[in-house]
Amino acid sequence: MNKEHRCYVTHLECSRCLAQWDHRQLHNLCICGKPLLVRYDLAAIAGSVKKEDLPYRDRSIWRYQEFLPVERPENIVTLGEGYTPILPAVALGSRLGMRSLFIKDEGQLPTGSFKARGLAMAVSKAKELGVRRTAIPSAGNAAGALAAYGARGGLINDCGRIVGEGKKRVGWFDVSTLKEPYRIEGKKTMGLELAEQFDWNLPDWIIYPTGGGTGLIGMWKAFEELEAIGWIGSRRPRMVAVQAAGCAPIVKAFHEGATEAPLFPNAHTLASGMRVPIAIGDFIMLDILRRSGGAGITVTDEEIVEAMSLIARQEGLVASPEGAATLAAVEKLRASGRIGGEDRVLCFNTGAGQKYPETIPGDYPLLSLKSPEDLERFFAQLV
Ligand SMILES: *Cc1c(COP(=O)(O)O)cnc(C)c1O
Ligand SMILES: [Zn+2]
Repeated sequence: MNKEHRCYVTHLECSRCLAQWDHRQLHNLCICGKPLLVRYDLAAIAGSVKKEDLPYRDRSIWRYQEFLPVERPENIVTLGEGYTPILPAVALGSRLGMRSLFIKDEGQLPTGSFKARGLAMAVSKAKELGVRRTAIPSAGNAAGALAAYGARGGLINDCGRIVGEGKKRVGWFDVSTLKEPYRIEGKKTMGLELAEQFDWNLPDWIIYPTGGGTGLIGMWKAFEELEAIGWIGSRRPRMVAVQAAGCAPIVKAFHEGATEAPLFPNAHTLASGMRVPIAIGDFIMLDILRRSGGAGITVTDEEIVEAMSLIARQEGLVASPEGAATLAAVEKLRASGRIGGEDRVLCFNTGAGQKYPETIPGDYPLLSLKSPEDLERFFAQLV
């Protein structure tokens, strides 16, 4: 286990009006309706942990305990999540004329998606703050992760459109994206991890499949905290939000120069994790994209399916549609010359392709080989 546990949270702060709230109490949104962020005594963290301590710790998100909001270790609800590999994508890179293309493979996390990070943290904190019942609206991955961590932590959970009613009538605690402060802290560990894995020299680009935006916001927060304690400098990766052409509120607002993103009508895409037509953290994401000198890119469902197949064939990685979308976006940024051949580019595969059987094209020639004669014919055409 890691060394003795201390928590450095000072308070919660509103991402919009900066109002301060007591972190020892349960909160959803600020009174102004915007998300709350966890603030820490960063000077004290800087004094208590060194980069050199990290290699001796658990290979999970909990290795960064000083940067995390759980006060007592017995409240941690874990399935061993975190420390996913950063895989060099050599074949895909050389196809695009790139020397340093990487994929952080979040498909290896418990429940098969990176929702595990946020919900491990949210469920741990909910437990710590005395919550008994939780609820979440979800396209699938978040609910799967909440069900798993809820079961592990002994919480009761439910999902769907009955959430609002349940909140009122039986006191469910809503752990929707950004509607409680701690999922961001879980997603923040992606930023801490990648910084450590890149030896504190951040990549030039981070390409992220964007839905509600906890990942973008969480990674950016990680970089700010790491700079505050002196582990990295002020240079930041260009942050790229990738969305599906059928549901692209953030990318559209980015290109229109807007600071908020209204509801995207008739949202549709097979990449269900990115099917978020309105996001409460819109203004934070747009600010990050601009401040980092980043970009907003849309990809069609056809491009996503094509990229899934390409990644599987060239890298042996069965990516989620959302993860594949980041590779399709890199291809566009490379074709337009925005990404250079020497740039260090990190894509996120946020889930396991195995969770999306509906996206696998329905043409299975090998399954039609029934008789020995069929086999003969099949091999004859190969030689
Ligand atoms: C939820 C989800 C996303 C979007 O994540 P946010 O951080 O909420 O923007 C991307 N990919 C997958 C697989 C997801 O489940
Ligand atoms: Zn506020």
